[in-house]
Parts: sequence; structure tokens; C-alpha cells
Amino acid sequence: MTSLPASTDRSLGLVIDLDTCVGCHACVISCKEWNTSQYGAPLSDIDAYGAEPEGTFLNRIHTFEAVPDAADAPPRVVHFPKSCLHCDDAPCVTVCPTGASYKRQEDGIVLVNEDDCIGCGLCAWACPYGAREMDQTAGIMKKCTLCVDRIYNENIPEQDRVPSCVRTCPAGARHFGDLADPASDVSILIADRGGFDLMPEQGTAPVNKYLPPREKVDLLAPLLDPVPETQGGFLGWLDRALTRL
Ligand code: SF4
Ligand code: SF4
Repeated sequence: MTSLPASTDRSLGLVIDLDTCVGCHACVISCKEWNTSQYGAPLSDIDAYGAEPEGTFLNRIHTFEAVPDAADAPPRVVHFPKSCLHCDDAPCVTVCPTGASYKRQEDGIVLVNEDDCIGCGLCAWACPYGAREMDQTAGIMKKCTLCVDRIYNENIPEQDRVPSCVRTCPAGARHFGDLADPASDVSILIADRGGFDLMPEQGTAPVNKYLPPREKVDLLAPLLDPVPETQGGFLGWLDRALTRL
């Protein structure tokens, strides 16, 4: 149906740190705000203050309780930000009957040409990540654009020329750059932290990468252990001093 470029000059994308994301949804709101007034405008809201609000969000956070393998380890909450991963082998593009979905050869960004979208929804069925958003009001498909209208925008300060979610994240959990350049900050981060593809078995070759949660180290635990009678040093002195109080 619609073809993909054989290769791209750059692979712009996000690296999302599952260790530091605190699930605050700041990125969700900033994405919605930027895209409601810019490229994807307007992103619909239906019954926003009613009992069952619905709307178009290009970035969503899902929160899971992960149960570790070790029986005595406590469960852990992981916040999982989800948006388009700008796949190299994007099935949402190849399934599109009109050519509205396409991947840019110059930077690898996957976009929808809204003038050509007929709202058939095939791309949403084809995306294994659930990253496409049918705008129920406009009747056309929308998705993360990597803020293509910010990152090349010379009318805004240079530090703002990154996706809105990256600029906003208070935890520094979102990083943006060229993942095809092995010397880029994002490529170095992926190599250092073991960045991984989401659901690689789907064969979509996602550009975005996720960084795994790190093992938690409880810095207070050694201090809270009972102090042995014979304990020397500062802890022993402190324990004896407190016992005399
Ligand atoms: Fe397409 Fe889904 Fe990949 Fe985005 S994440 S490029 S919508 S298949
Ligand atoms: Fe997570 Fe950052 Fe988004 Fe907050 S803004 S939910 S910390 S990625």
C-alpha cells in the first residue's frame, strides 16, 4: 500500500527512562497543550468534565505494579510512558491505503498527512503498541510528531527546540536525539544503561528506546539494623548515647 524509505539519513527519537519516570503526567499535559495549538490542532476533548471524559492524547502514561522474581522482594510500581516509537519497519505506514501515513527519509519521523487521511483506522489496528489516536471529532488519525514543528523552529529559543514532553519532564526521564549517530548523547545513554526495544518480536524496529528500572538500593537499611553490643565506631557510640537517655 504505502512504502517506507529503504533507509533514513537520521533516526530522531526518544529515550525514556523507566527508572526515573515518576508518573506525574507533566509530559502528557505539555504534549496535549502544544499539539492542541499547533501541528495536530485541535486535539479533541469529548465530555471533558463529564462522567466519561474522552479525548485525543498523543502521549499517555500507564502505571503497572511489577512483581519481582524473588519471592521476598516487594512489588514495584513502574510508570510507562507510551507514544509513537517512529518504527523503521512501521506497519502503520505500509497498511495505509492512501499514503497519508509516511516515514520521512531525512529524519525518520513517522507522520500523518491529515489531508489524505480517510479515517479508516487501519493504521491503529496495525500498530502493535496502540500508539495511534483516532480523533473522534475530526474523524482522522493523529499521532506523536516528535514535535516536528518545534525541533526545527528557529523562531523559538534553541533550548526549546526539542519535543515538548522532553522540555517539560521534571524528572529528566525523557531524552531526544539522533539514535543513528553512535556519538550522540542518546546513543551513549542507551549503551551505558542497556536501552531496549519495546516488543522486538513484533519486527517493527522501533527507533525509540526504553531504559530499564535500576535495582533499588536501600541506603537506610544498614543504619536501621540492630546495633550489636560490641559495635564500635560512631554507630556504637551513638547507640550507647541514645540508650542512656
Ligand atoms: Fe506506527 Fe505504532 Fe510504530 Fe508509531 S509505534 S511508527 S504508530 S507502528
Ligand atoms: Fe514520567 Fe517525565 Fe512524563 Fe512525568 S513528565 S510522567 S516523570 S516522563
